Amino acid sequence: MAVLLYDPIFSAHDVDPKHPECPARLGAILAALAPRHLEKHSREATRAEIERVHTPTYLDHLLAQRGRWGEAGPEAELCPASVDAALLAAGAAIELVDRLLLGERGMVLSRPPGHHARPHEGMGFCVLNNIAVAAAHAKTKGVERILIVDWDVHHGNGTQEVFYRDPSVFFCSIHQSPLYPDSGFADERGAGAGLGFTLNLPMPAGSDDQEWLSALEKNLVPALQSFQPQLILVSAGFDAHQLDPLAGSWLTAEGFRAMTRLLRGLAHTYAFGRIGLFLEGGYRLDTLGGCVLACVEELERV
Ligand SMILES: [Zn+2]
Repeated sequence: MAVLLYDPIFSAHDVDPKHPECPARLGAILAALAPRHLEKHSREATRAEIERVHTPTYLDHLLAQRGRWGEAGPEAELCPASVDAALLAAGAAIELVDRLLLGERGMVLSRPPGHHARPHEGMGFCVLNNIAVAAAHAKTKGVERILIVDWDVHHGNGTQEVFYRDPSVFFCSIHQSPLYPDSGFADERGAGAGLGFTLNLPMPAGSDDQEWLSALEKNLVPALQSFQPQLILVSAGFDAHQLDPLAGSWLTAEGFRAMTRLLRGLAHTYAFGRIGLFLEGGYRLDTLGGCVLACVEELERV
C-alpha cells in the first residue's frame, strides 16, 4: 500500500479554462488510480513551516490575496481558491514526510505545483514550494541527509535556490535543456558549504527513457555512495512524456516507472525504504494518469 494524499481543494485551483495546469489533470490521475484509497488531507502548513523556505513578505503577499484573483509571481496566477489550495498542498507535503518517517511510502496528489516557487515569489504555475517545505520539515525531525530528485522536464530552479548552500539536502534535477526557466546547467553545483550538493543533468530535446535512466545511473548513483541519504523526495513531473504539449522530450510511462524503481532501490539501500513523490507538471491529460499509475505501482512493490 502506498499513501496517496489528496484534497478536493486541489481541484478548485482554476485560474483560466485554457490554462494547461488545470483541474482536469487531477481528474485524470484519480481515474487512473481507482479504486485505490485516497486520504483526504485537511491541515494547512503553518506560517513557521512555510517560513523555513519562503520569506515572511512573500507569505504576507499571498495571504492578502486569499479568496481573491491575483498573482503569486511571474506566470503564477491565483484564483479565489488558490491560496487555500497552496497552503493545504504544503500541509500535505509535510504530512507525507511524517508518514515516510513512520515507514510508509507514498505520493502527494496536489495542485498548484511547487518546484519553480522561489523563496520570495511564486513562479511558473507554482505558488509554495511543497517539496522544499517537506525537506525543511524533515530536517526538524532529525533527518540529517535528504535527497531531492526532480525529474520534471523543467529545471527545479526554486528548490535549487532554497538549498543551494545547504549540504544536508542533495538536489538533483534532470530536465530538458534548453527550456524554461533557462537554468539548471551542469556548472550549477551549489555554493559555500553546499558546493557539490547540487547536481544538474541537462538533457537535449528528444532524449528518451533509456537516456534519462542512464544519466541518473551514471551521475546520481555514484554521488550517493558518499552522501548516503536518509530520505528520498521526488519532484515528480510528467511533462517529459513524449506527447506532452509543453516540451520535446521522449519519455513514456515505462520511463517514469523505471526511474521510480531505481530510486526505490536507492531508498532501500540508504534510506530505510523511505521515498515520497510530489506531483509537479505534466499536461497531456490522456497519458498523465498512466504515468502516475506506473510510479504508484512501483511504490507499492515490497
Ligand atoms: Zn514542468
